[in-house]
Amino acid sequence: MSVVSDSPVWRPFTQHALQPGAYKIAHAEGAWLSAEDGTRFLDAISSWWVITHGHRRPEIMQAIRAQTESLDQIIFAGFTHEPAEALARRLVEITAPGLDYVFYSDSGSTSVEVAIKMALGYWRNRGEARSRVIALEHSYHGDTIGTMSAGARSAFNAPYEPLLFDVGRIPFPARGAEQEALDALESACREGAAAFLVEPLILGAGGMLIYGADTLVEMKRICERHRVLFIADEVMTGFGRTGTLFACEQAGVVPDIACYSKGLTGGAVPLAVTMCRREIFEAHLSPERARAFFHSSSFTANPIACAAALANLDVWEKTDARERVARLCSMQEERIARFADDPRFSDARRMGTITALDLNVAQSGYLATISLDLMRFFNARGLLLRPLGPTIYVLPPYCVTGGELDLAYTAIDEAADEFGAAR
Ligand code: PLP
Repeated sequence: MSVVSDSPVWRPFTQHALQPGAYKIAHAEGAWLSAEDGTRFLDAISSWWVITHGHRRPEIMQAIRAQTESLDQIIFAGFTHEPAEALARRLVEITAPGLDYVFYSDSGSTSVEVAIKMALGYWRNRGEARSRVIALEHSYHGDTIGTMSAGARSAFNAPYEPLLFDVGRIPFPARGAEQEALDALESACREGAAAFLVEPLILGAGGMLIYGADTLVEMKRICERHRVLFIADEVMTGFGRTGTLFACEQAGVVPDIACYSKGLTGGAVPLAVTMCRREIFEAHLSPERARAFFHSSSFTANPIACAAALANLDVWEKTDARERVARLCSMQEERIARFADDPRFSDARRMGTITALDLNVAQSGYLATISLDLMRFFNARGLLLRPLGPTIYVLPPYCVTGGELDLAYTAIDEAADEFGAAR
């Protein structure tokens, strides 16, 4: 087995003392990763939720190769280039009417950080003293200081707590407790917030927690009533994961600001955008330079990444991508259904192409060591699954076949016998 254990690389979200090794992948294709020695892994979590159509989708790889013939990174202030212009125009076309401007960055965290800054800049430039951010309990928006502040306080960010700013925290709208969440949002908004930041329909890293489109509709209405900007963090949900191109579509909700990243390039290369309503852009227009939007990064609108994103949009427009997503939704539904009344699990659930279920064990929370045991168990069976504590989820690329999905669910079944409470 190609495992690297003596390496200077410090890996993300990894306790090196417990997980010293990593499989060294030499090739990726479709739904599969192959290690140097030929060992294969079914990528059942789309390599941290980024790969949408499948690894190394030919049209996207070809667009990347072609773009390198004419452009590499170009400064993006005072200069622009066709891949960024064309991509912005197409994003405005395919997103809900009202998202009129596109700000480029390079990761999901940054796109959310940009959204928060846009919201605060908007209110400041309008001369209204609004700076409070409201967010959902269990939410995850990234690992920068601003996005950790908005995200749930947990083991992920405990050491950095002294740097994190306070946000208004709304209970998660679990089934039956929606009204409580909406009431809490209403009173937080009444106090005068700048923005409400939300992962639409499903909270990812918080444990694949699902709530209804009707609740999202109500959340938007409450924000409108109190003129609180509604920020949709579609970093994970965007580009098909919830069954529609964007999760907000299912609620007919048009956010004031929306963040997209992971699937924007089909997952091939890093790129992110924060899109916003015209009023937010216009609030930054002024003869005073100090009212400009002060955010940039060296790699803003990288042309090669923009070319990859354009090719990804072509895949959505010109191929059977939407049918594949619909097929995957049904294949996932058929497979998760068999665990609905299984006493070894709780809450077998599905949102679009994503399924999740909680293994009934004594431990809970992300740091539960059961997740390491499960990960090893799955890896040994040629599967890339990374449970969030006892929550096992399957979030595959859209090219996955029914037979490949069966490999994942058979292993989940076996894992429950090995680690879960008895049937
Ligand atoms: N927002 C959501 C909803 C996410 O799921 C993630 C990553 O998983 C992020 C933001 C952060 O994205 P990135 O890891 O690209 O910074």
